[in-house]
Amino acid sequence: MFKAFLQLLFPDVCVACKEPLVAQEKHLCTDCMFDLPKTDSHKGLYHVLENRFAGRIMPQYQFAYLKFKKASNVQHIMHAIKYGGNQELGQMLGRWFGADLNEVGFANTFDVYIPIPLHKKRQLERGYNQATCIAEGLAESLGGIVLENAVQRVRATESQVRKKRMERFENVEKLFEVITPEILENKRIVIVDDTLTTGATIESCFEAIKAVNPKEISIMVLACAEQ
Ligand SMILES: [Zn+2]
Repeated sequence: MFKAFLQLLFPDVCVACKEPLVAQEKHLCTDCMFDLPKTDSHKGLYHVLENRFAGRIMPQYQFAYLKFKKASNVQHIMHAIKYGGNQELGQMLGRWFGADLNEVGFANTFDVYIPIPLHKKRQLERGYNQATCIAEGLAESLGGIVLENAVQRVRATESQVRKKRMERFENVEKLFEVITPEILENKRIVIVDDTLTTGATIESCFEAIKAVNPKEISIMVLACAEQ
């Protein structure tokens, strides 16, 4: 009763378009849900990730769920997941992402999901790692477990926005350290992140995990910026 009263005063709104949500909707309204700019990378129709990592790392599979553009609905969504404390939204989109992959036969194809770790200080400030909630949704749809502490960030990056791409890659070497190598050995690993921009952070994490002899490493990002 009290909750219904509060909702009358402060209705939940869509994180993307800010319109009030109706009964069955959560976080996103139906219109925005159907308008999500999906990459369809699970259908093999999207090669932005491959191109970005070409000549650097060779993931087993590489998938992105959404196309990221500035000032778009996807930016509002990513902002809510990253800075707005909306972990449920991250889990929900992770589940949808996983469901698409499920449709093309990827159920039970992966053992361990590793969310890209934040620096300890950043995680303390934020209270959570946004990549973890996405990984939880993926694991729920596809099977496998999420290990948040198998890899640790050993160094925070400085702002790299103004640096050129090549310099950026040199700058992010040895960002990560595997804490429990024995758990990752011979496993089918998925590195999970919220947004892919240059790919330098993921590349660094990939190299750290590769060094402990997993069976294979794949990459899944919720949104991918097209540069
Ligand atoms: Zn909406």
